[in-house]
Parts: sequence; structure tokens; C-alpha cells
Amino acid sequence: MENCIFCKIVKREIPGKIVYEDNEIIAIEDINPQAKIHILIIPKKHISTILDITEDDSSLIFKIHKIINKLAKDTGCSENGFRVVLNCNKDGGQAVYHIHYHLIGGRKMDWPPG
Ligand code: 5GP
Ligand code: ZN
Repeated sequence: MENCIFCKIVKREIPGKIVYEDNEIIAIEDINPQAKIHILIIPKKHISTILDITEDDSSLIFKIHKIINKLAKDTGCSENGFRVVLNCNKDGGQAVYHIHYHLIGGRKMDWPPG
């Protein structure tokens, strides 16, 4: 998708600190981390919002969850706990319209979120 930051990172048109990659998924360090661990898990396929996910994406979404688990373990935050966030649209605080799961860890999270 043209003018999409995350498609550009996937295509190496702009830099990103890649911590995981396979044929369908990329994970990068967030440019503005909100905790010691803040990784974005991004499908390479451009999907604008969670509302655009279809049945065809079932295995992709499952795979994303497996990678989140792997990264949580690899970064050492799985035991203490972590948060996974997927923002949707304006009120959800979505800034980049290419779905991405935030894996945030390394500190105690507050609830309710701001
Ligand atoms: P959203 O608000 O859409 O859920 O989250 C967008 C996230 O992408 C933010 O946490 C922001 O810091 C991050 N971000 C925006 N632009 C870039 C970029 O060019 N590189 C990286 N690594 N992260 C970005
Ligand atoms: Zn995109």
C-alpha cells in the first residue's frame, strides 16, 4: 500500500529495527517506546484495521499470537507479564492504518488504560 509506513518498513524503503521476520510477519522495535520492551508485530500483508480482518487471515492471526508469545519469552517478560494492544480507529488511538500488535513489557501496567 502506497504511503503506508509499515509497508515501507517491510519493503526496506525506510529503516526499522527488526527483531523478528518470516515470510508473513515482521516485528520491529517501536520508535517511541512506552516501556523497556515495546515491539510491534506486523503482518506483511496490508490490513488497515482489525475491522478488515477476514476468515482468510485466520492462520496469519494465529501465527502473530505465536510470535508474540515467542518474543515475550525471548525478551524475558513472559513470567512477570506483559500487555498486547491493538488500537482501532480514532477513539482507539490508531495512528498507523496497517494493523500492528504492540507487545509492551518490562514494567507494571496500569488499568484502566489512558
Ligand atoms: P498506533 O497508535 O497506530 O497503535 O501505534 C503506532 C505505533 O507506531 C506508535 O507506537 C509509534 O511510536 C510507532 N511508529 C510510528 N512510526 C514508526 C516508524 O517509522 N518506525 C517504528 N519503528 N515505529 C513507528
Ligand atoms: Zn501497509
